[in-house]
Amino acid sequence: MLKIKKSTYDQIVSYVKASYPHECCGVLVGKMEGDVKVASEAHPIRNLNEERARDRYNMDPVGFMRVEKDIARRGLEMVGIYHSHPDHPARPSQTDFNHAWPIFSYIIYAIAKGTDIEAKNWCLNEDASEFVEEAYEIS
Ligand SMILES: [Zn+2]
Repeated sequence: MLKIKKSTYDQIVSYVKASYPHECCGVLVGKMEGDVKVASEAHPIRNLNEERARDRYNMDPVGFMRVEKDIARRGLEMVGIYHSHPDHPARPSQTDFNHAWPIFSYIIYAIAKGTDIEAKNWCLNEDASEFVEEAYEIS
């Protein structure tokens, strides 16, 4: 279960719209509270995959490390990854699966025609053999 702050959810919506028709990606930061991941911040990370920026993302490792350091200092942790699917459904691709880490929530924002947003949240199942939809709550 993922709980995401309303302002964080909306912030990602603006990144997704601003990046359209390209994919954008970033990390969700907050706290693990038992089985519940509480996301209170979104940190955009540059998508290095410019050739296929419409349907692939490849997070800049330098940006990733910078966020890791910053949040560790503030006692926060990464709880998930967000990315967008321009003009594609909000389902994980094979590439998304290949790069997925257990525990993290993967929230995918599908954006159609640059305006209509539909977000779905995913998580690997227990044996990490597939993605299953995971409930999320905006609070
Ligand atoms: Zn994807």
